[in-house]
Parts: sequence; structure tokens; C-alpha cells
Amino acid sequence: MSKRSSVDPSMSGSRWQRLSGWVWGLLRDAGELVLPQTCVCRLCRRPLPAPPLPFACYVNDLYACLCRECIHSLAWVQPPLCPQCGRPWRHGGLCRFCLRRRHVLQGCSPLVYTGAAQELVRELKFRAVCELGRPLGYIIGAMVRSAMPDWEPQAIIPVPLHADRLAARGYNQAELLSQGVSHFLKKPLLHQALLRTRHTQPQSALSVTERVKNVHAAFHVPHPAVVANKRLLLVDDVHTTGATVHAAASALWHAGATTVRFATLAVAANTADLSER
Ligand SMILES: [Zn+2]
Ligand SMILES: [Zn+2]
Repeated sequence: MSKRSSVDPSMSGSRWQRLSGWVWGLLRDAGELVLPQTCVCRLCRRPLPAPPLPFACYVNDLYACLCRECIHSLAWVQPPLCPQCGRPWRHGGLCRFCLRRRHVLQGCSPLVYTGAAQELVRELKFRAVCELGRPLGYIIGAMVRSAMPDWEPQAIIPVPLHADRLAARGYNQAELLSQGVSHFLKKPLLHQALLRTRHTQPQSALSVTERVKNVHAAFHVPHPAVVANKRLLLVDDVHTTGATVHAAASALWHAGATTVRFATLAVAANTADLSER
């Protein structure tokens, strides 16, 4: 009778590989449940290479949420930009949205709303990945510093959600970003200074003209004295046509604000309007 091998031949080769693959999958899934959320990249879900360093510097906060590859895959805005709204605009001068505006509203955004930046906004807005808010707010704050070196806001105001939408979502993504901006720029965050009193449809489904009508008179300043004679920075997630920030700024102007500017995480731009570099 031949001696049996110590290793069951039926367990060799591909069967072992399948089993180890299954075990690794189980460990990975268990790890995602047990480990804090920040141990995997919030975009590609790959484990982050090292435990986050103490949160002493702003960059570490971002590296605690996203891996290096995903950070580098973000499309950062590249000049030439529209001198008013900060949208990439390679044709020079004001972009087609700003040309139509009666009021000047200056703003900036660090990212182009495409690819990984779109995915980031979705994570923040619809999948409640709230820990992204603060580090992304730091990026916005840094962009404000570099795009508006001669202007310093006295307070930060998040573009508010209507109370019904806030109750349904549980948080306002613009407020999460504003916390990072406020921390970075060392300026106070005014939570209730601006309210959205009219329920509006999501802007993404509407045309340019419909967007303006949709948000017209949607904002209200309950206590004008809080914003009067102040330089204010409005913060939101995405800048598309500018209808929302213009409606919000106009409520603040009417309440007596000296200057209003805006900063958003990402700005929509057509490929044809981007720099060819
Ligand atoms: Zn990643
Ligand atoms: Zn513009």
C-alpha cells in the first residue's frame, strides 16, 4: 500500500489558490468593518500605505482619506481661468456665464468637476462619507489664499440646504467643507446666518434659465446685523452656472454685507474650455 502524501493532492494548485483568495477576501471584508473608515482610500478602497500621521499638518488629513494615486488623479484647475469665477477658460477674459451676469461675484475652486472629483463629491454628498469634508475644506481654503491674496473674509458661510433636505440627508455637505475652510483660514463659521427658505429642485436636472428661476429668492438672512458690513465667503461643493451662489450672495448683499465672494470644491468646465497644456 503506497504511503499517503502529507499534503492532500486534491488541495494543491488552483484549489489552494481559491481557498486563500477566499480567506483573504474574508479578512479584507472583516478589516473594512473593524478598521476605522480612514484606513482605506475613500475613492479606490485600497488600503492606505501607512497609518495616518498625527494630524499636525493639513496634507496628512487628506492622505488619511485618499491614497497618493487618487490624489494625483484629481484634475486641479489650470490657468487661464475666468478672472471672475475662476473657471478654466482658455479663450481669455470672462467666461460665458460671467458675461451674462449683471453683478460681479468673484470666486475660485481648486478642482475641475470631472472624474475623481465628481466621485469625491458623490461620496461627500450622497454616501455620507463625512470625514472627507474637513480635508477637502483645507484644499478650498488654500485655493482662496492663493487666488485672492489681497482679500480676507471676515466670516465663512456655507450655502444652506432647505430644512426638509437637511432632515432627509442628516448633514449639509457645504457645512462640512466650510468647517475645513474656517479652520484653514482661521475665520469664524456662521451657521445660521443664511437660510434656504424655499424648497428648490436639485439644480443638476435643470437648464441654465431654469436654474436661475429655481433658486430666485430661495435664500433669506434672518438677522441682517450678523452679516452687515462684513466681507463674507460663501462655500459650496460644486460651481456650475453660478445660479445658486448668485442667489445666496444677493440675499447677503441685501442684508448689508460689504463684499461677498465664493469658493467651491469643484467647478464644471467643458473640455473645449480647458487649457491645452
Ligand atoms: Zn485611492
Ligand atoms: Zn466666469
